Amino acid sequence: MAFDFDLFVIGAGSGGVRAARMSAGFGARVAIAEDRYLGGTCVNVGCIPKKLFVYASHFAEDFADARGFGWELSFAEFHWPRLRVNKDKEIARLNGVYGRLLSDSGAQLINGRATLLDAHTVLVGEKRYSCERILIATGGWPNVPTVPGREYVITSNEVFHLESLPRRAVVVGGGYVAVEFAGIFHGLGVHTTQLYRGDLFLRGFDQECREFLATEMRKREIDLRFNTDVSAVVKTGDVLQVRLTDGNMLETDLVLYATGRAPNTANLGLESAGIVLRPGGAIAVNDSFQSSVPNIYAIGDVTDRVNLTPVATAEGTALARSLYGGMPSGVDYEGIPSSVFCQPNLATVGATEEAARAQGREILVFRSTFTPLKQTLGGRNEKVLMKLVVDKQTDRVLGAHMVGPDAGEIIQGLAVAIKAGATKAMFDATIGIHPTAAEEFVTMRTPG
Ligand code: NDP
Repeated sequence: MAFDFDLFVIGAGSGGVRAARMSAGFGARVAIAEDRYLGGTCVNVGCIPKKLFVYASHFAEDFADARGFGWELSFAEFHWPRLRVNKDKEIARLNGVYGRLLSDSGAQLINGRATLLDAHTVLVGEKRYSCERILIATGGWPNVPTVPGREYVITSNEVFHLESLPRRAVVVGGGYVAVEFAGIFHGLGVHTTQLYRGDLFLRGFDQECREFLATEMRKREIDLRFNTDVSAVVKTGDVLQVRLTDGNMLETDLVLYATGRAPNTANLGLESAGIVLRPGGAIAVNDSFQSSVPNIYAIGDVTDRVNLTPVATAEGTALARSLYGGMPSGVDYEGIPSSVFCQPNLATVGATEEAARAQGREILVFRSTFTPLKQTLGGRNEKVLMKLVVDKQTDRVLGAHMVGPDAGEIIQGLAVAIKAGATKAMFDATIGIHPTAAEEFVTMRTPG
């Protein structure tokens, strides 16, 4: 049977676009359907605008540090609408780049919501398309628990488009988005409270890094409250009252919920094609990204495995190579580095101290805590933490963790060494770049 397309991709986010344009580049006849925005969450309401906001919010500290270096700043005023408009222009430019990448590759972009009619038929608007293979790359969507007053809270979908910056904000959650936005709001001058239901935020990251980060954030006067949650949000006039499970009450102007994301699998017709979902709604896939229906594949956040943009693009690349490039490929999920763009920055690669011990390994832990050189004159009370987790028997570096300026930039480099199986002896034999913070990673000599 002749199909309209060899591959029909649903969702033009990072993973879908990568898979579509690479498959088209290998000669496949590809369509990609998108009903919202090109580039998906990362480009429109995620990584990119978030990082731009992080840059914006850093200036407050930079201005404070400047004094010790001889600068006198008589006047600094922040204009939220200018940041928002400039950010929107950059996002529009990136949307255009994504569109051009797709059309240059020969993939056909179809604007509209796609649903499956059966395992080989996709419907967009009134039109049906027959396709040999289908790839679901529809990502995820913010998940807000049912709480009285839910209608008054916003999520990461709305926070990038606020008309005005609130005077006070409450951020709910203890994951990536929550700690990043607590830092952004605070840096932009918003009185910020972050609530987390457990003992300590960023569950799964290195315990010492989590504690260190909490201390640094508190020094910056972010109001961190753990072991509490929202019992209700009540609106009185323009003010929101946030009632807490610990009996306290907060008055605020904005409540941002960052309590995780759910896979975007509703109303796609997945049941018509017989696709099996995991509890929580994610599409179950095998190592070849194949769902329970062999010609239907899924990559990225909709599979809810490692929900990071570079992982989705790696999956898109591997799938295109395997299906149309004659190069059977997979993705190695070991040693994926990641960074939380909170302030100070936290980044990590490989095993945490706790995970290594839980695996039954005998480990040595090397750590360094110091005042960054910039703060000797900058004068802010800020410290940096760096940690290496080393296997005592093999001397291999199992993990590297950092809290401090540019942690993401530094850990990205170390991730290559750790991926390559570097030993602590190799770290020790590496000459540092002086004076940098990163050189500490090659000069830690005493475990403790
Ligand atoms: P996360 O899964 O990182 O964190 C969710 C947080 O919300 C956790 O602290 C969780 O608590 C808490 N939570 C979950 N459900 C509830 C509830 N019902 N009531 C109260 N608290 C709750 O989600 P995010 O929204 O922060 O981010 C989504 C994903 O996006 C991340 O997993 C990450 O993969 C990706 N991301 C990556 C970024 C980066 O690489 N820099 C930046 C932003 C997002 P608990 O720990 O107790 O379960």
